[in-house]
Amino acid sequence: MKITVHRGTDQIGGCVTEYESNGWKLFVDYGEQLPGAPTSDKALEIEGLTYGNLRKSALLITHYHGDHIGKITDLPPELPIFMGKISKEIAQELSEHLSSVSEEHRSMAERLDSVKTFSPGEEFSFGEFKIMPIVIDHSAFDAYAFRIEGKGLTVFHTGDFRTHGFRSSKLPKVIEKYVGEVGYVVCEATNVNRPVATIKTESELQKEFESEFRDSRYNVVYLSSTNVDRLFGLYHASVKAHLPFYVDAYQKRIMDIVAGRDNIWGKSRLYKYVDGKEPIVLQRDGAAFRVTDKFSDFLEEHGFVMIARANDRFDKFLSKIPKNGKKTFLSMWNGYLDRSKTAYNPALAQSIGTEYEYLHTSGHCDMASLDRLLDMLKPKSIIPIHTDNPQRFADLFCEKWPVILLEDGESFAAIRDPGFDTTTAKVMAFQEPDNSCEVIENPENLQWWMVDNKFLGEFQWWDDADSALHHVVYAPKRLLGYAIESDEDMAPFLYVVYNPDFTEHSEYNEGGHDPEDEHYQTDGEYTPGQRVLAVIDEMLVPCEVVGPVTVDFLRKDFNKYGPRSEEDFQEYKSELWDWDWDKVVIRPLVKIKTEYGEISSETTAQRIYIFPYKTSSTNEDTPSL
Ligand SMILES: [Zn+2]
Ligand SMILES: [Zn+2]
Repeated sequence: MKITVHRGTDQIGGCVTEYESNGWKLFVDYGEQLPGAPTSDKALEIEGLTYGNLRKSALLITHYHGDHIGKITDLPPELPIFMGKISKEIAQELSEHLSSVSEEHRSMAERLDSVKTFSPGEEFSFGEFKIMPIVIDHSAFDAYAFRIEGKGLTVFHTGDFRTHGFRSSKLPKVIEKYVGEVGYVVCEATNVNRPVATIKTESELQKEFESEFRDSRYNVVYLSSTNVDRLFGLYHASVKAHLPFYVDAYQKRIMDIVAGRDNIWGKSRLYKYVDGKEPIVLQRDGAAFRVTDKFSDFLEEHGFVMIARANDRFDKFLSKIPKNGKKTFLSMWNGYLDRSKTAYNPALAQSIGTEYEYLHTSGHCDMASLDRLLDMLKPKSIIPIHTDNPQRFADLFCEKWPVILLEDGESFAAIRDPGFDTTTAKVMAFQEPDNSCEVIENPENLQWWMVDNKFLGEFQWWDDADSALHHVVYAPKRLLGYAIESDEDMAPFLYVVYNPDFTEHSEYNEGGHDPEDEHYQTDGEYTPGQRVLAVIDEMLVPCEVVGPVTVDFLRKDFNKYGPRSEEDFQEYKSELWDWDWDKVVIRPLVKIKTEYGEISSETTAQRIYIFPYKTSSTNEDTPSL
C-alpha cells in the first residue's frame, strides 16, 4: 500500500491523503485550506481524483468541517464519495441554509445528494480496500476515523478527533473491538504546540456554563452551528439552570437531526430533549426576528440562553432584548478574534463586541491523549498531518515511535510481510539496559547498552525502504544507524547498514564467504586489538577485536564443553551458512549475563554489526556514540 499525503503535512486544514493498492485509490478528505495556508493559491492536480481514470477511485470524508469536505464540488461528478449518514444530513442542512448566500453552497447541496453513506462499525469494501469507519469524538458530529486495510496491511487514519469530549470514554473499547493493532497511523496533530494535557473536558465546560447560567439570567452564546455536542451541552446546562433555551429555526433543524437518534450512542441522554423544555425557536417577521413587547417581557421575566451567530439578523435582535446584566460568551476558537491571525473574522468581532467571556475547549486531542491512543495501536511508525509544526511533533514522539515526516506529495510505500521476497528497513538505536541482564565483570567500568531495533516494515523495492529511512525521525540522541535487508527471489541476500548520516557503514552481500572462497573476510577492516562496539545477543558491548572467524576458532568453540569428535565438527562446519563466515571474533571487555546466558570471554559478532568504539560523553546520563 502506498500512502501519499497530497496536502496537509505542514498545515492545518485542507488535508488530502491517498491510499493506493494495485491501482485502487482511496482518498481521504478534500477540503478548503484555512486562510493563509502556505499553498492556498495552488490547486491540486491528482491523477485518479481531480482528473484521469476514476473507475478505481473513491473519496472518504471524515467529517463535515469545511477543511475536510469544502472542495468536493471541484471534483468530477462521477467520483464516488462516502461519508457518515448523520454527518451528510448536517452538511446538507448547512449548505441548504447557506444556499441563498452563495452559488458555492448551492452546488455543495447538489453534490451532497449523490454522496453515499456508511455506518459506524460496519466494514465495507472498495476494490482491494476494506474500510472500517470508527466514530470518533470531535467538534463535528458523526466524525470518523478509518481503519483501512489493503492486501493485509492496515493503517489507522485518525481524522480530526479528541479524547476529552462527552463520548470519548468509549474510544479504548472501540479501538480494541474494531481496530486492534495496525501497521501505520496517519494522525492529526493540530495541538502539537500544546503538548501538555491542559485541555478541559467538554463536561467540565458544560458545568462552567451551568454555573454561569445560574449566576446570570440573560445569556448569549456564540458558537459554531454544527458543534452539536457543545450545543446539546449548553441546552442541558440551561435546562438545569431553569432558563429557556432559544435558537433560530436553522439551528433547531440541526439539533433535530441528532435528537432522538441516540440509538447510535447507546443510552446517552445528551441528544434527547427534556419533556416540555424543548429548545424554543425564534420567530421571524420577514427577514428579522420578531420582538414583541410580550416577548421582551417574557425574556425579562424568565431569563434566557440564546444561541447566536455573527450576522445582521442576530445583531439587530440582540440590540432589542434585555441588556442589563446580559452576558455574552464566545464558545469557539478565539483565533477568529485575533487580528494577528489569518483566520480573523471581522464579522464575528463586530457582532460580539469587546465585552464577552471566552468559554471553549478544543475539538482536537492533546498530545498526551494521542500518545495513549498510539499505545493501543502499536504502529511501526506514524505519519502526522493536519499540523503546522510537524518537526515539533517528531520531537515529541520520536523517542517512542518512528515518525515519518513527508512533504506534500511524497509517498510512503510499505507492503505486508509476504513471508519471503522481502526488503525490510529498520532503525537501530541504543538504549539503557533493563533488568533482564546483569554485569558480571567490568574492570574498566565501561559503558554498554542494549540495542533498540525498530522495524519500519517491509517494502517491495529497495528504493521504497531507502526513502522510508530518509524520512524517519527516531530517537536522534540514541541513533546508531539504519539497515536495509533484501532477500528478493533470484537475487543474493543483501544487507546494508548505514551510519546516522546515511554514509554506508558496512554491507553483507551473500556468496563466497567460506574460508576457501574468494570473499572470505575480504571486507574485514578490523585489526586485532582494536576496540569496537559489537552487537552480541541484542547488547551493544565494548569489545576488543581478535580477528576474522577461523576454522580453528570454531573448533575450539565447538569443543568448549568437552572434546567431541572431528567428524561431528566437520558435520557442524558443513552446515554453517555463508553468513556465519562473515563474522569477527571479539573479546568482550564487559562480562554480561543476558537472557540467553553468559556472554563468552571470546565470541563472535556479525561484521556488519560492529561499530566504531566511542566512550560515553562526560555526562553519564546521556551516552553519545
Ligand atoms: Zn480539520
Ligand atoms: Zn474538524
